[in-house]
Amino acid sequence: LLPESIIDYRELTVGKTIGSGEFAEVYEGTYRKTRVAIKVLKESNSAALFLREADIMSSLKHPNLVQLLGVAQKPDNVIYLVTEFMAKGSLLHYLTTRGRSVILKTDLLGFAIDTCEGLSYLEQNHIVHRDVAASNVLIADDNTAKVSDFGLAKSAEQNECERIKCRTKWTAPEALESKKYTHKSDMWSYGILLWEIYSYGRCPYPRIPANEVLINLKQGHRMEPPDGCPVEIGEIMRQSWLNDPDKRPTFSSILDRLKQIRERLL
Ligand code: ADP
Repeated sequence: LLPESIIDYRELTVGKTIGSGEFAEVYEGTYRKTRVAIKVLKESNSAALFLREADIMSSLKHPNLVQLLGVAQKPDNVIYLVTEFMAKGSLLHYLTTRGRSVILKTDLLGFAIDTCEGLSYLEQNHIVHRDVAASNVLIADDNTAKVSDFGLAKSAEQNECERIKCRTKWTAPEALESKKYTHKSDMWSYGILLWEIYSYGRCPYPRIPANEVLINLKQGHRMEPPDGCPVEIGEIMRQSWLNDPDKRPTFSSILDRLKQIRERLL
């Protein structure tokens, strides 16, 4: 961890709880007069994982990645991970609670572009996220979407898995079967994320139980793009779900295409 990422815990004020994840409790707080989010580990035995998340986050800086401000440790060894505050919560929450009449088509495309910007930056920096999903994208006050939750992220060379979540419906077949997590398996998950965005937060494969998804995929089954989804976005989904990882597009190429779609809409 970089020395500049160490925060004195006495400079932090911990406020009310705003969320709860698998491993951490998330609180609202203040650090040097700025509103922040403070993640506190539930069990100390995952401390190494937590610090690795902090380590990865501290080395990354992009307007579409949730920024780590620093890490604080209390005398009783409780670790605080301090990040920028994302006022509107997770993208999944945003999509499901606001509804179709409130969210504009330009908002949906904005979320798709923002997350692609963040993931394209990760691709350039050889970081595989491994957990791309609408629940791991957070929305700022000005509606900017930022990718978060680097708990599983790894540099592209490493490949073994330490933490398997119930992410079957988001995970590429080769990653499920052989733990081959790459930028191309992130691209598969990004296709699922696009489907979540354009279905306003529905659960993927609504009629298929998670443990039957892989067998369906192997038989060639794929989701249809949601109703009202632009044709070009549907085409990106289709390409992101190609069986051969090498045939799936890169994030930088998708970013160009999404920006072209936006140009045409303006
Ligand atoms: P875990 O990694 O343990 O699953 P998350 O990082 O997903 O935990 O956080 C759980 C929840 O806390 C999120 O869904 C969100 O509602 C809230 N949250 C997390 N980070 C922030 C943040 N920076 N700003 C605002 N809310 C946040």
